[in-house]
Amino acid sequence: MSMRFDMVVVGGGFAGVYQLHRAREAGLKVLLLEAGSDIGGTWFWNRYPGARCDVESLDYSYSFSRDLEIEWEWSERYAPQEEIQRYIRHVADRFALWPDIRLRTRVQGARFDDETSLWTLTSVAGEAFTCRFLVMATGGISLPQAPQLAGMERFAGEVHHTAQWPDHPVDFTGKRVCLIGTGSSGVQLVPEVAKTCARLTVFQRTANFSVPAHNVAYTPVSLAAAKARYPERRAMGREAITGQFLNANTKTAAEMTEDERQAELEYRWKGAGGGFRMLRTFADQMSNIETNRLVADFVRSKIRAKVKDPRKADLLCPKPDLPFGGKRLCVDSNYYETFNLDHVDIVDVKATPIQSVTANTLRTTEAEFPCDILIFATGFDALTGALLAMDIRGAKGASLKEYWADGPLTYLGLTASGFPNLFTITGPGSPSVLSNVVHSIETHVDWIMRLVQTMRERSWTRVSSTAQADASWARRCSDEAAKTLYPTASSWYMGANIPGKPRVFLPFVAGVPVYRRAIEAVEANGYEGFEFV
Ligand code: NAP
Repeated sequence: MSMRFDMVVVGGGFAGVYQLHRAREAGLKVLLLEAGSDIGGTWFWNRYPGARCDVESLDYSYSFSRDLEIEWEWSERYAPQEEIQRYIRHVADRFALWPDIRLRTRVQGARFDDETSLWTLTSVAGEAFTCRFLVMATGGISLPQAPQLAGMERFAGEVHHTAQWPDHPVDFTGKRVCLIGTGSSGVQLVPEVAKTCARLTVFQRTANFSVPAHNVAYTPVSLAAAKARYPERRAMGREAITGQFLNANTKTAAEMTEDERQAELEYRWKGAGGGFRMLRTFADQMSNIETNRLVADFVRSKIRAKVKDPRKADLLCPKPDLPFGGKRLCVDSNYYETFNLDHVDIVDVKATPIQSVTANTLRTTEAEFPCDILIFATGFDALTGALLAMDIRGAKGASLKEYWADGPLTYLGLTASGFPNLFTITGPGSPSVLSNVVHSIETHVDWIMRLVQTMRERSWTRVSSTAQADASWARRCSDEAAKTLYPTASSWYMGANIPGKPRVFLPFVAGVPVYRRAIEAVEANGYEGFEFV
């Protein structure tokens, strides 16, 4: 027996929780399904030591309620995982969302019925849920991936993935730890593990750029001062490429003198800057390889200054073929400094690949490393992974997996032709992972709700983008990406971390304001590119 709703939302992270709130406010009968035992999404699953957001707390938070903004007290410039999860729970409490949230319910598939124009979802446990509107709030970075290592079944120690971290503390005291992966998760975890372990060996395939966070605790005074300017801060974020204020330099490198360039680089590296501000050092750094090299060389010189052992420093410096920012920039607190500790070392697994695992070691082609705890910080099947992990069948039984076989086809990153009344929040083809994702979530949910309201007012039962609209949006996405250096990097933005995944630049790169204007223009033009029944 299937339970019937106006809307079902899949996923209980920032996106799902806001979607649920807005749908309830609009009077819809709505249900949120979440696979985990709590809400929080990313911030529920990625609870490894050191996990914190590298978008500033005051930006990485909902803007829809001024009261919520004022009452919530962020403790630090970059909030730790536990605090962000507590915040999402607080939002569910404050807006009384819990009755419409169903935890421990993993969706296996969804099928559209051509006769009734309704979706039926099935859970792994075999339950069924029927709805008019189906919103996938499944997250862009939510399906973990790890390499299959020969001999894993023999390994006698603990094994953890950063995105499936246990809810009890992992004790590293006196342990020999092998950690694979040096993206944002690895970079945050390394300094924490090093504090107590006997030996930490980091297995790196590609060195990426990392910049100092300069995290600071808020005082009551500094937080109050920041909150007093909240409306202004949000307004600046809305007009910034990444949906957060990064004090972007509007000048290209060529428009500045050498002294000005150096001063700009130092400002962004040091305390007044920090974090993602380094991505906005020069207006042309993601489109001009020479300008990009100025930033990359500067950061490499800083890495060499921090890491005393020249062998380790060489390995930690990204190679010249990786543009700065081409792979998602890492933001750290003491990552490079940790390699100055005698018990912390780095191994280049491109030069000496990992071959196998024994009961208590990890073997590369050159050496064997004792291992009590093995950690995978090896990332995710991003943007399409979580959606394609479900069996989604649209009109006439069409399979989303087949429709996206050569890469995702969406209209505005929000819908896919042949999958009526199905919406993806921060899906492929939207600024999503290139933006302050909470800002992008609010933009998407508000847009979806305006469309749903319009349909309800006009008694329309079915909306779908046309195949032509999907194809032209995909072209626009790749044309925008081609104007930048992004496609030159083997990144998860390109699907390059997943064997066999089509190489397509997945997000929309032209920025949050351009994107918002595009989706608002479609709406103003009577939903051009959509067909209604
Ligand atoms: P990631 O950026 O994809 O990094 C995975 C790392 O594992 C890379 O160094 C990768 O090397 C390596 N790797 C993957 N497979 C491997 C293999 N078979 N052998 C050896 N090495 C392998 O994943 P992540 O660090 O979990 O971060 C993913 C994204 O989540 C981030 O980019 C960011 O958007 C988000 N995130 C955000 C925060 C934050 O806000 N603070 C924190 C964590 C994550 P290659 O580079 O060679 O592929």
